[in-house]
Amino acid sequence: MLRIQNLVLPPEGTPEQLKTQAAKVLGVRPDKILGFTPVRQSIDARKKADVHWVMTVDVSLEKEDAVLKRVKSHNVKKRPPQKPYTFPVVTRESTLSPVVVGTGPAGLFAGLCLARAGLRPVRPYSYRQGRRQPYTNPFRGWGLWSHRW
Ligand SMILES: Cc1cc2nc3c(=O)[nH]c(=O)nc-3n(C[C@H](O)[C@H](O)[C@H](O)COP(=O)(O)OP(=O)(O)OC[C@H]3O[C@@H](n4cnc5c(N)ncnc54)[C@H](O)[C@@H]3O)c2cc1C
Repeated sequence: MLRIQNLVLPPEGTPEQLKTQAAKVLGVRPDKILGFTPVRQSIDARKKADVHWVMTVDVSLEKEDAVLKRVKSHNVKKRPPQKPYTFPVVTRESTLSPVVVGTGPAGLFAGLCLARAGLRPVRPYSYRQGRRQPYTNPFRGWGLWSHRW
């Protein structure tokens, strides 16, 4: 199994287009691809005029080692061993809820993991949401409201 990173696709791109791109990077015909699984999809919206998907896909095909030797792109590698994330065993005894501060992708994912582990996290809710806040004092501007997952 090979992993191809940084495949670029327009917002309305299709799986067929993605497969064609993968084949192009590998230097094979699309019908030589036996298995094809997108494993990561993120949107690059840094430039308004050029919003696009950035994808990682796993591809299986015959003679992978030979293809890998031939390919010039650094974006193609053997697929690394799969390591699914496992939440640590919960040994916490406190009855208080854990608090997640900051609701970027990492904070939201932390909240999801904590909730799935049955810990009922809370995140403080700002009175002044949507406005730039100084972060020197993490509690400045935070009210009593909280959101429970
Ligand atoms: C200009 C720019 C454009 C980008 N464009 C893209 C893009 O198109 N596609 C893409 O995939 N990635 C993009 N990124 C990267 C992406 O935004 C980050 O990788 C991602 O947001 C990181 O998530 P995070 O949860 O770690 O941090 P953040 O998203 O930064 O979340 C942290 C949160 O914590 C809050 N916070 C911080 N300190 C405190 C405190 N003391 N008290 C309370 N709250 C606090 C912040 O307000 C914020 O909401 C871009 C980044 C920048 C700067």
